[in-house]
Amino acid sequence: MIDFSVYGKKTPEVFAVKCPNCGKVDYPAPMLCKKCGERRDPSGSIFKDWEKVSLGGPCKLLAWTRVYALPEGFDVKYLLFGIVEFENGLRASGRLLVDQPETNMKLNARADVIRDVKGVEIYGFMFEK
Ligand SMILES: [Zn+2]
Repeated sequence: MIDFSVYGKKTPEVFAVKCPNCGKVDYPAPMLCKKCGERRDPSGSIFKDWEKVSLGGPCKLLAWTRVYALPEGFDVKYLLFGIVEFENGLRASGRLLVDQPETNMKLNARADVIRDVKGVEIYGFMFEK
């Protein structure tokens, strides 16, 4: 993993959230726990704060696709996107940095800047071998 701290930048991370009531971990963060219905309050002022769980590391490719119609901010002809499953059972989608993707192949996920929209960096997942 690239160490962004030497550039004075925070290391990108993507988080799942953990329900304080029943412990279900979910990503992307839901407004209501899918298991017990506990409410999540992103401001943390009304309801209990939900613990953040860092996502990344070993995962398995479930499905992938090639996307040609790209939004503003990309300067390539197409991108590969994949859906993976982490060891804890959570699923996430992101960019696939593999030439020949195969369903069920083992990958490694890391968080990175996926695009820069008018100076705002958007974090997402990159999957690679
Ligand atoms: Zn819950």
